[in-house]
Amino acid sequence: MSSRKRRIRDTTGEWVDLKVFEGKTIEYTSRCNQEKKPKIMNVCRNSYDPFKLVPCLSFTDEKKAPFKVELNNIALIVMDVHAHISKTEVIGMLGGIYDENNAKLEIVMAVPCRSMSTGMQCEMDPVSQTHASDEIYSKCLKVVGWYHSHPTFSPNPSIRDIETQIKFQEWFSKLGGGQFVGIIVSPYNRLNTGNESEVRCLTISQDICPQLNCNIPYQFDYQVIYSIWDDDLVNRFQVLAEQYSTYNNQVTLSGLYKQSTGISCLQKMLESIKQYISNTEKKEEILNMTFNIFHEKTM
Ligand SMILES: [Zn+2]
Repeated sequence: MSSRKRRIRDTTGEWVDLKVFEGKTIEYTSRCNQEKKPKIMNVCRNSYDPFKLVPCLSFTDEKKAPFKVELNNIALIVMDVHAHISKTEVIGMLGGIYDENNAKLEIVMAVPCRSMSTGMQCEMDPVSQTHASDEIYSKCLKVVGWYHSHPTFSPNPSIRDIETQIKFQEWFSKLGGGQFVGIIVSPYNRLNTGNESEVRCLTISQDICPQLNCNIPYQFDYQVIYSIWDDDLVNRFQVLAEQYSTYNNQVTLSGLYKQSTGISCLQKMLESIKQYISNTEKKEEILNMTFNIFHEKTM
């Protein structure tokens, strides 16, 4: 019997059979195959619509954040670049550490995964999910979240995103961790007037929104931590650019982003990641390197 070796490590780094994760594979409903425009919650509807986007609330003095979030700039760059190259939703995992003493989640790395499209649903390819968690554990980090993109619409979670996120939070809290966040990146939201992508880091609360009959999402006010430029990023970009060249739904990076701006999607991507490159780095050199890697693949 050749049992498929689909194993994955849990948050403690232990190997578990993928069966344990059954129903825990990261999946979400994609709009790739839909004609529907995204809907923003406005009126009370009783019908279940997994595509409905639910605005996130901010934490307040009354409703305090369960922990602080620090987001590494390199992780942000990886997610942002990954989101820019595909017209359809991309997905990946987040690695980091939780600092108990300071109640602070440090998100250190983002690992792009492949998504499989199964009709109406896109889900994370389990093999790629296993590779991603291996990579995270090899850096002595833990899986602390997932990310996906909303290519042309707001980074608010859909009802389905909320359901997926809840499943994960419950699963990880059973394992004793409990710190598992979701990040949504919107690179080409038509309503965004700037070139910088919108990034939302969220958690789902126990509070129920009576109108939508779903749990309320809250967004973290995360802090960006600038680490030194990592040469691994060059490899990461090369892998993404290589995959990009065979994507069915690749963004034509040389194409115009918006008529009004006159810049290409590739230039728009560089403008967006620029914010995450610290001033102490050779910014132009890094941007040129990124340009060259992706420009080559768009020719
Ligand atoms: Zn989503």
